[in-house]
Amino acid sequence: MTQKKRVYTFGNGKAEGRADMKNLLGGKGANLAEMNLIGVPVPAGFTITTEVCTEYNELGRDAVVDLIKADVEAGIANTEKVMNAKFGSKGEAFPLLVSVRSGARVSMPGMMDTVLNLGMNDDAVKIVAEKSGNPRFAWDSYRRFIQMYGDVVMGVAAEKSEHDPFEIEMDKIKEQKGYKSDTDFTVEDLQELVKLFKVVVKNQTGKDFPTDPWEQLWGAVCAVFDSWNTERAILYRQLEGIPGEWGTAVNVQAMVYGNMGDNSATGVAFSRDAATGENIFNGEYLINAQGEDVVAGVRTPQEITLEGSRRWAKMQGVSEEERASKYPSLEETMPNAYKELFDVQNKLENHYKDMQDLEFTIQDGKLWMLQTRNGKRTGAAMVRIAVEMLQEGMIDEKTALLRQDPNKLDELLHPVFEKEAIVSARTLTKGLPASPGAATGRVVFFADEAEEWAAKGEKVVLVRIETSPEDLRGMHAAEGILTARGGMTSHAAVVARGMGKCCVSGAGDVAVDYKARTMTIKGVTFKEGDWMSLNGTTGEVYEGKVGTITPQLSGNFGKIMDLADKYTRMYVRTNADTPHDAQVARDFGAKGIGLCRTEHMFFEGERIWAVREMILADDLAGRQKALDKLLPIQRGDFEGILEAMDGFGVTIRLLDPPLHEFTPNEPEAQQEMAEKLGVDVKIVKEKVESLHEFNPMLGHRGCRLGNTYPEITEMQARAIIEAACNLKAKGLNPKPEIMVPLIGTVKEFEMQEEIIRRVATEVMKEKGVEVDYMVGTMIEIPRAALTADEIAKKAEFFSFGTNDLTQMTFGYSRDDAGKFLPIYIEKGILKNDPFQVLDQTGVGQLVEMGTKKGRDARADLKVGICGEHGGEPSSVEFCNGVGMDYVSCSPFRVPIARLAAAQANIRK
Ligand code: PEP
Ligand code: MG
Repeated sequence: MTQKKRVYTFGNGKAEGRADMKNLLGGKGANLAEMNLIGVPVPAGFTITTEVCTEYNELGRDAVVDLIKADVEAGIANTEKVMNAKFGSKGEAFPLLVSVRSGARVSMPGMMDTVLNLGMNDDAVKIVAEKSGNPRFAWDSYRRFIQMYGDVVMGVAAEKSEHDPFEIEMDKIKEQKGYKSDTDFTVEDLQELVKLFKVVVKNQTGKDFPTDPWEQLWGAVCAVFDSWNTERAILYRQLEGIPGEWGTAVNVQAMVYGNMGDNSATGVAFSRDAATGENIFNGEYLINAQGEDVVAGVRTPQEITLEGSRRWAKMQGVSEEERASKYPSLEETMPNAYKELFDVQNKLENHYKDMQDLEFTIQDGKLWMLQTRNGKRTGAAMVRIAVEMLQEGMIDEKTALLRQDPNKLDELLHPVFEKEAIVSARTLTKGLPASPGAATGRVVFFADEAEEWAAKGEKVVLVRIETSPEDLRGMHAAEGILTARGGMTSHAAVVARGMGKCCVSGAGDVAVDYKARTMTIKGVTFKEGDWMSLNGTTGEVYEGKVGTITPQLSGNFGKIMDLADKYTRMYVRTNADTPHDAQVARDFGAKGIGLCRTEHMFFEGERIWAVREMILADDLAGRQKALDKLLPIQRGDFEGILEAMDGFGVTIRLLDPPLHEFTPNEPEAQQEMAEKLGVDVKIVKEKVESLHEFNPMLGHRGCRLGNTYPEITEMQARAIIEAACNLKAKGLNPKPEIMVPLIGTVKEFEMQEEIIRRVATEVMKEKGVEVDYMVGTMIEIPRAALTADEIAKKAEFFSFGTNDLTQMTFGYSRDDAGKFLPIYIEKGILKNDPFQVLDQTGVGQLVEMGTKKGRDARADLKVGICGEHGGEPSSVEFCNGVGMDYVSCSPFRVPIARLAAAQANIRK
């Protein structure tokens, strides 16, 4: 039997591991091995496998130390040989100092600590001081080591609410000597700190700080294994679905230093531009510095390439002379190391076939690579890099598609803040990121005023406690919308996403006083007309005016979309209620409308008065009179929308919301309604009261309206079919699909279907024109999903309304869930907001079962989704998996859904 291998060494172009051994060596360990294998200079070291972590948990510390002792000693010996240094040197060689880091299969950021400079002790510090000629560096490394080791391995910690005990010692000296920062410490101060730190360790733990490097090493290795089972690591794993038995690897690697003098440096680099995607090597470095100095902002980092350095100088208004003398590039200061770095980045990019984010250190003129990983990038860079790598022949079409993060495409579709402007903006508060984009404008509190101000050319931000369908036009006119209440599927959020308009909802700190026309955020009051800015992508609310820019859709974006169409099975429709939105979506590649909410049209112009007249009517005759007024208006609406989507299916849903949504609550508005309709205000008030429901979402809405007032369905069916006939007569190809909302029993559907088909036949006879139309239903009540086979015998298509289906499956009110969902997510009770990300385990079962039962009864049943989930990538993938024909989402999410659909199909 071959013995199990527990320790894998790397260094000097050799490695026992490989990139594809991530399960055993962890992500970091596998990459360190791989870099060695392809000839990239990496400080030598070794990786203790993730399996040892599991053994550690089962067998305990002593048994495991016994198991790996010989291998670890061999690993150190190999490292000593490669690095020409000695662990525990007494002066015979340069001391080998190592870092000890965790590294699981997948990165678990911030979960576990790291120990650096291990091997430092009273002997080593003296040799390092002498051989490096830099005693300050040596003693600073020593005090950092005691601090880190004391904290991570020995458990020196601040008592609750107290200051870190090491920091207390440092502060004392700073105060005594009037120092401002850590960099003011002299060699003597640092020597004193080392002594004091050891005392802190002794006092806190009762143990002496270990001077033997081997004892230090075993302490650190075991501490990394222990950190796999800390409370926060366990919680993180639960949330991310990472199994506890995976374990972490431990990487022990020789330290190298960029702060050993002017022939040393450290930096970070990217093989392509992470902001624009341009294929240009770039990055920053600092001479005589440590890794964290580059990012800490204490010194101005310099550009790596000469070209980058010149670009930078131009932007900063720095002359070439000043640039060359004060801020020279690495290409100029260390041409040999630069050349090697340039070759290494090329090699790594070619090897990993993706843009690399690199960390490097130059120690005494010698280049060392510390890390490489696929670089994070903006949406624009993501698209450009993939398209160009495809053109360069580096990756294939499927890879180019899979490299896209669908959500990041959003950045390419909405305005964003100017980079410089946002840096100095003051954040007032944060709400939910309800609809992405950036908006800046003057505060108004009423929708009609938003319209008026906008008509005068003012940019406005509409601030409401919450919005209602009445606010639609004002929302349209505003740059962005801020609401104090409401979640991600609140009216404001859904409508704003549909419009592609920036919206921050549920900002609980915002207190609106409509009467005074003010809002107060954390004690600061803003008046109507004050400037403020919103980031709908993050939920941030800023004080004042912050400049925005509209990003250009580049040609590469179109290329990615063409590729998506090549590999997709499902197609994408849009949720749109106006010809304008339909056209926007069509330009983004929508092939039809999956949901036209007819009620959204009821607020346009004069329509609302006819709607209110209908609601106010006591009898059929009165209602019919009002409906006769609505008919031509609706017909016009449908003509517009069918024309904008000519040739594609357009799903038009019959009236859905409870009627009280169309009547005003405020006394002045009720008075206005009474006057306009020529009735006593008392009648209006009584009507409003009679429409009041305790739970309107479960009340008189959906097909329950059409089944109690069949004349409404008749009018809508007539308007739709007349519109289609008129377009057909003009030579167009309208394809209406009439959809019955909120059914729970097949009977509910049948009664509506009977009306629709009767009216359609009548209209086509009157017009002498035949149109193809379909009659189908939404599946948004659990009972409809459970009885989908019965329903599909009658309905020609299903559209899953997963907003209501989620509401009714969880029993969470869509309008009230904002109060507890954030807490549920924070506490880990739910992983995501189920109104945003389809709950595949629960609600998903109903969707899957409904689709299957439906198709069993009617093989060619057309199935789609029109809830908010239709534009959310993981939900789109689920829909592909259950075999839906299409997903439907708001216009600005159409490209995202197209990409997600293609990716789902490739992954399948
Ligand atoms: C749904 O319930 O998922 C749906 C699309 O309808 P609405 O959001 O209009 O209730
Ligand atoms: Mg619904």
